[in-house]
Formats: sequence, C-alpha cells, structure tokens
Amino acid sequence: MQLADRVSQVSASLTLAISAKAKAMKAEGIDVLGFSAGEPDFDTPRHIREAAKLALDQGKTRYGPAAGEPALRDAIASKLNRDNQLSYTPDQIIVTNGGKQSLYNLMQVLINPGDEVIIPAPYWLSYPEMVKLAGGVPVILKTDIQSQFKITPDQLRAAVTPKTRLFIFNSPSNPTGMVYTPDEVRALAAVIVDEDLLVVTDEIYEKILYDGAEHLSIGSIGPEIFERTIVSHGFAKTYAMTGWRIGYLAGPLDLIKGVTKLQSHSTSNVCTFAQYGAISALEGSQDCVAEMLQAFTQRRQVMLELLNAIPGVFCPAPQGAFYLFPDISAFGLGSVEFCETLLESYQVAAVPGLAFDADQCIRLSYATDLASIQKGVERLSAFTAAVG
Ligand code: PLP
Repeated sequence: MQLADRVSQVSASLTLAISAKAKAMKAEGIDVLGFSAGEPDFDTPRHIREAAKLALDQGKTRYGPAAGEPALRDAIASKLNRDNQLSYTPDQIIVTNGGKQSLYNLMQVLINPGDEVIIPAPYWLSYPEMVKLAGGVPVILKTDIQSQFKITPDQLRAAVTPKTRLFIFNSPSNPTGMVYTPDEVRALAAVIVDEDLLVVTDEIYEKILYDGAEHLSIGSIGPEIFERTIVSHGFAKTYAMTGWRIGYLAGPLDLIKGVTKLQSHSTSNVCTFAQYGAISALEGSQDCVAEMLQAFTQRRQVMLELLNAIPGVFCPAPQGAFYLFPDISAFGLGSVEFCETLLESYQVAAVPGLAFDADQCIRLSYATDLASIQKGVERLSAFTAAVG
C-alpha cells in the first residue's frame, strides 16, 4: 500500500528486531537473559497504585482537561520549583502520554519543514525520527568515549546555522548514562543564550545518579536561559511507571498553549485516574526512589567490574540512568552482528550501539536482578573469548 511520505522517511527501530527475537526465543522456552529493556524491573510503588485505585473508585473515569488534571499540574509546578529551582505556573505545564509524547508534540508545534535540530550522539533513538516526522532536519554532533560522550560548547556553537531552531539536551543520557557537570551545563547555556537558540532538556533520568553526580536543570541558571528552555519529563523511570504513560512538558505559555491545542485534537487528556497515581508519586514519600537507586547502584558496580574484566571490552563508568555502554570494537564485528550472534548463540539480549549512532558500542541495561547480570556477563565473556 502507498503510505504517506512522512512515514517512509522514518527508520524502523533497530531495537525492535532484537527485542522481538528475544521474546520469540523466550516463548519457545529458551533461557534468554535480557539486558535490552529501558525500564526499571520494579513494581510501581504501592502508595502510587493505591492512589490510582482510589481515584478509579471515586469516579475519576471521565474526560478531563486536555492539558491534564489541575491538581497534577499544580503538583508538577511544585516539583519543578522544589527540585529544580524552576518557576513555572501550572498553565505553563501540559501532562502528556509519557516523555515520548511530550517530545513528539513539541516537535510538531515548534518545527517547520527545513528547520534544523541539533542532537548530540549517541542519542535516544526517537529524537531524530521525531524531528523528521515534523519535517525538520536532525543535525548530529558526534562524541566518543574519550570525550566521555559529551559535546563541547565550541561543538554546539559551530553547528548553529540560521536554520537552527532547537537543541536537544539529555543528561543523564540514554544510552551512555553520562551526566554533564553543573559547569558544563552552564557553558552550554551560555552558547544557547548567545546564539539565541531554544533548548529542550529531557530530564527523565534526573533522579538516577551515582558517585555524587549532580543534576543541574539548565533552565535554572538564569532568566535568559529560562525563557529559551522547555523541560521534558516523565514518571516512567523514577517511579517504575513505564506502562502508565504519563509525562509532561513545561515551557513558555504560548508554546504550551500550542501543544495543548495539538493534543486536544490527538490524544486529549491522559487517562484520568492514572494522573492521580502521578500526583501521589510527586507528593508521597520519596523513599521508593532511594530504594530503587540503591539496587541500581549495586548492580551497576557489579556489572561494570565484570565487564571491564573481559579482555577487549572497555566500559566507562556512567554517572546516571541504568545503562552501561561498553566499547566492543576490539572484536571486529559491527554492533548489529555482535548483538545478533550474542542473542542467537549465547542467549543474551543487548541493544546494538548503531541504534544510537555508535556502532562501536552496545547498550546493556542493568534494570534486572544481580543473578541474571552475573550469568549474562559470563555468557558475554564466553562469546568474546570465542570471537576475540
Ligand atoms: N527520553 C529518554 C531519554 C528515554 O530513554 C525515554 C524512554 O526510554 C523517554 C524519553 C520516554 O519515556 P516515556 O515515554 O516512557 O515517559
């Protein structure tokens, strides 16, 4: 069938093929160890589930405002103020079906055909596709292990053209896990203000930090950067709420009004009773976040040590998120072939770095139990010994 041009421009997800294959193998009863999922393996904390159940019983089952329940927008405004020193009024916030829809909507509202959007690589694989779906042109800034997968202010400045509309900033990063230091964030903010750009800061991994790393929300640096900043966030990673589909966007009022108009003609409001779970996530005890972080910290340490003990594998220590991004180029295979063979012959699912524009690496999520991590890295080690 003849599909619209916009769909043919979008790449199919490379991760999908591997995940589908891993699932099919599991269904056949094969003992596959999965490190490809970008989601916490914990249940959503009980108090959040209870709040949604109560809302359901109280009849919060009807259409609501397209921009979200007022009580949730209030709670998000308080969170941004309390945690990030960002001063937004509730009408500068829209609740979306996850961080993914926040970013998709933003591109639709901001980008005209031919507009350029600067994206540092390795990147979360949906960014360039969302830009293309809006008719924009992704401008990719390459980084490498030596630069800790971070761009420099000079690199950003050099990429700016009269067509530049937006810079996408993601720290802590998926897939590398790296975190820009507060000084590095300030230096990038200076370029954004100087060049009069807009920045969307994807802060979905904000709370998942290690080794004393600090998260500085770029919009909090001063009024000039604040008015050029849009925050994209969500509940999926911090509160193990991936399936709930709740995220949000905060930014200048006219922009949020535009996004609300768009959303009112596409998905309308996010599931009403689910939004009450999100309120409880923000306003309830944050002990659950600390507990999950403690588990991630231990797994990260174990996996990092095991990986770096494998001859030929080099894995930097990431300071955020729940991914490791080892360099596997010593084995002479592209990342897709590496991951396909690893899955087929050693029953370990990992994501090829090519999906994130880094063919020399693979992405391993440690959002899984310690026993699986130990067993999985043993198999990876057997594989590299066989090819290496
Ligand atoms: N941004 C990044 C960097 C992500 O890794 C993800 C999910 O994997 C998202 C945004 C979207 O998350 P969600 O739509 O589940 O809120």
